[in-house]
Amino acid sequence: MIKNITCICCPKGCLITLDTENPEATIKGNACAQGFDYALGELLHPMRTVSSTAKITGAIHPRIPVRTSGNIPKEMIFDVMAEINKISVESPVKCGDVLIENVLSTGVDIIACRDM
Ligand code: SF4
Repeated sequence: MIKNITCICCPKGCLITLDTENPEATIKGNACAQGFDYALGELLHPMRTVSSTAKITGAIHPRIPVRTSGNIPKEMIFDVMAEINKISVESPVKCGDVLIENVLSTGVDIIACRDM
């Protein structure tokens, strides 16, 4: 089956096509090697970063922006969001502070995205 994938690794947004029966030999449309790796990853094991907010007390806002420190498996997004929703941190928090270490054993942390 022919599959179309838009590469999101840079603003160029190359439209990549591949045959799912033999992906490595049929990847076309990528302008660079990063797109090749991205397309293969999207087919075999898609990964994503997650951005969200977490509760914070004693700060100027009730929630602080957070994100994963790296990519997590796409199928774990909702589980990771649930973990973020469980926490409440206390001000002051510095940008880059680890709020959840190794979330759900992914090897990725949940970190603060700003001082608050
Ligand atoms: S294939 Fe390369 S040039 Fe094209 S969008 Fe992806 S990273 Fe950018």
